[in-house]
Amino acid sequence: MTGAVRHLDGPRPTKEAFLHAVFYRARPGAHAVVHLHSTHAAAVSCLADADPANALPPLTAYYAMRVGTLPLLPYHAPGDTALGPLAEEAARSHHAVLLANHGPVVAGATLEQAADAIEEVEETARLHFLLRGHRTRPLTPEQAAAIAPPIPLTAGRAAVAALLPTGCSPNPSRFTCLTQVTQICLPKSRNKCDPIERASPSWRR
Ligand SMILES: [Zn+2]
Repeated sequence: MTGAVRHLDGPRPTKEAFLHAVFYRARPGAHAVVHLHSTHAAAVSCLADADPANALPPLTAYYAMRVGTLPLLPYHAPGDTALGPLAEEAARSHHAVLLANHGPVVAGATLEQAADAIEEVEETARLHFLLRGHRTRPLTPEQAAAIAPPIPLTAGRAAVAALLPTGCSPNPSRFTCLTQVTQICLPKSRNKCDPIERASPSWRR
């Protein structure tokens, strides 16, 4: 598909292709979007008590690094384009979302990065069920924020502030830069704010 999401060749795209398109629109730095119906992530998407703002806790460091926060979008039948605007809004500030009673959608700067991140979603969902009934110790908000994926500035100040760890001031001065769309913002705990070109390699872990 091109940037305008025109079918060029090959088999007819899935009726869920519009979901990929909204991620490309919302995240200019995305060059790959992966969507799965993987078992454990789909199971989390069916939990009645899942937090719509963040469906999975940061159980491991690699989940916190590669995924961060995972909003749960409300159920829509497959192919229902009414999901498009909701997904596009969420994608501006999150590269990974979970569709209720369905599965995850994850964007990345490369296919490898998107695949690594969606694998973390699935494995963390599996851990989540393995640990059910046990007292768990997820990363603290500060530990998770210190290694969280960068937030595109195009997300806007409100969305960036909403992603600050609980207890942190929503004051944008916590970020080292908020002025140019060519830059990304990181919580100050990472103490840097670089042009996307320079920052990208470090978050393709
Ligand atoms: Zn699907």
